[in-house]
Amino acid sequence: MAAEYVSLRNIKFLLHDVHGVSDLAQFPYYSEYDDESIDMIVDTIKELADTYFFPYLEECDRHGVTYENGTVKVHPQVLQVMKNLGENGWIGAAYSADVGGMQLPHMVAILLEYMFAAANNNLNGYPGLTAGAAGLVISFASDELKKTYVEKMLSGRWQGTMALTEPHAGSSLSDITTTASPNDDGSYQIKGTKTFISSGDYEGIENVVHLTLAKIEGAPAGVKGISLFVVPKKRPTANGKLEPNGVVTAGIFHKLGQKGYVTTQLSMGDDDDCRGWLVGKPHYGLAYMFQMMNASRISVGCNAAGIVSAAYHASLEYARDRIQGRRLNNKDLTVPQTEIINHPDIRRMLFMQKSISEGALSLVLQCTRYEDLHHVTDGEEKENNWLLLELLTPLVKTFPADVGMQAVSNGLQVLGGSGFCDDYPLEQYYRDIRIMSIYEGTTGIQSLDLLGRKMQIKEGKAFKLFLGEVQKTIGEAMAIADLQKHAEQLKSAVEKLVGVAKHLGKIAATGDIELSLADATLYQQMFSLVAVAWQWLKQGIAAHGALKHQSKAEDDLKFYQSKIQTLHYYYVYELPEIDRLAQTMTSGERLTVQGDMDLLV
Ligand SMILES: Cc1cc2nc3c(=O)[nH]c(=O)nc-3n(C[C@H](O)[C@H](O)[C@H](O)COP(=O)(O)OP(=O)(O)OC[C@H]3O[C@@H](n4cnc5c(N)ncnc54)[C@H](O)[C@@H]3O)c2cc1C
Repeated sequence: MAAEYVSLRNIKFLLHDVHGVSDLAQFPYYSEYDDESIDMIVDTIKELADTYFFPYLEECDRHGVTYENGTVKVHPQVLQVMKNLGENGWIGAAYSADVGGMQLPHMVAILLEYMFAAANNNLNGYPGLTAGAAGLVISFASDELKKTYVEKMLSGRWQGTMALTEPHAGSSLSDITTTASPNDDGSYQIKGTKTFISSGDYEGIENVVHLTLAKIEGAPAGVKGISLFVVPKKRPTANGKLEPNGVVTAGIFHKLGQKGYVTTQLSMGDDDDCRGWLVGKPHYGLAYMFQMMNASRISVGCNAAGIVSAAYHASLEYARDRIQGRRLNNKDLTVPQTEIINHPDIRRMLFMQKSISEGALSLVLQCTRYEDLHHVTDGEEKENNWLLLELLTPLVKTFPADVGMQAVSNGLQVLGGSGFCDDYPLEQYYRDIRIMSIYEGTTGIQSLDLLGRKMQIKEGKAFKLFLGEVQKTIGEAMAIADLQKHAEQLKSAVEKLVGVAKHLGKIAATGDIELSLADATLYQQMFSLVAVAWQWLKQGIAAHGALKHQSKAEDDLKFYQSKIQTLHYYYVYELPEIDRLAQTMTSGERLTVQGDMDLLV
């Protein structure tokens, strides 16, 4: 197994030099967190990842989850992770002190996801989902529900889930059919089937709390009729005991990857005795659930970025050791063979991995910075931070997942035949990352959200704000001779992005919405490439600043020069892809739009 899976140096560079995390300390809410305390927390998270996650990566994959006679067994380390993270306050790290949280900035709390996923992405979903589910109770539930559930969940004793998907309703949640009928005691009878529920059940955990979407009898059709319920596996009784609550695990799924992370099928109310408790107001369920879905989308992107990082470090280590062939301009067979890292094609694949890995993490931190600023600012500033976060959420979910998958594939390729075999972790990373493009809304659905909704919110204000942010970075880069070329390139890329948006907007204005959105995924790919180019220019500016003002120790020089070289790589090899995408999107073709005759034969 590779010795390293993340670079603490890179994490701290992004946090401090690129995204100025310590600015947040000026706000009373985050005033406890200065540079020094943040670095200590980052180091501690790495130690936790080293101790509780990384050593179990392979085991979780090989001896993952079993289901027998209705009992789900997971790797014992799941319980250790829940216990340790819960008891030490890490599950509630991002929540405020008054509910038992650490009040950590999201920019720092997201590093729990990042480092844990890089170390072992089969384990971190358990505490991650628990945190998200508890967050819904904290934000929207009654005091009584809060009292019953929050402490138990944040302490890791009770697992949390999000139970949205049904066998016939995945992307289209408006079509869920799980029902809720009121009982006399204020609870509801829940009846329905939930499928693909992560962390849905396992032996050894005291309870599992499903944050469940269902429709109250007589509710309006579609998303406006969806309500949110707390549906525990075991319901707490008046005397403080737990009794079965009619939630049955009908089975588990056997998956391509994340084999240690259980995915369940749940039947609720087959015995007509499954009780749920309404969270907030009736029919607001999907709006509430969006809090968890949005956070989970950032998490999924961050998880993918973590796997990409782990794959990069593993293939880099291999490429430094593996001897094969000779340099292209030296065919003398008496000369010893060279390490494969010296071959340009291997270097191209490694630079690709590094550029996607560090570009994706930077985008994750950019989003969480908007999240933090939204939390502590007021008025228009608050709204602007929210709009930027909303706009970038589909990108931060899809880019690390989709392009990250290609990066991991390159990582596997670096190892040649060994990459395909389970002596090395690349084949596992390749399988594990695949889900990231599917759950929490597929790439197709995220892309429709971006082009069909987010580009439009507040008459395009979010997009205008984004353009302003990028323009600021371009302006700063213009003042640095070595970056001017890339600043110009980013300016031109942004103009092309705006050009395509206008072109598609004109088609939408004719009323042909299907045609205007047909290439939403391509638009998302183009937008993502531009957004990550922006993140790389920001990193280039910070690296130049550091080279000018900071120590010139060999390690520092190498780190910053590597940043600048990777920035160059991204602008030369990756960003130009936007021209092909723009050409296709403005071609005027309607090739993928179903016509009178279906030509997919
Ligand atoms: C391992 C795993 C874990 C999961 N964990 C959870 C969980 O914890 N909780 C939970 O509630 N769910 C969970 N899910 C469900 C997951 O969110 C869904 O699988 C996902 O949203 C897609 O839904 P679907 O599988 O029904 O696919 P479908 O919705 O049937 O989609 C199939 C394809 O059609 C495309 N498509 C669908 N509708 C449209 C449209 N209108 N326009 C264009 N394209 C469209 C999709 O992009 C996709 O490519 C999990 C799934 C898996 C596999």
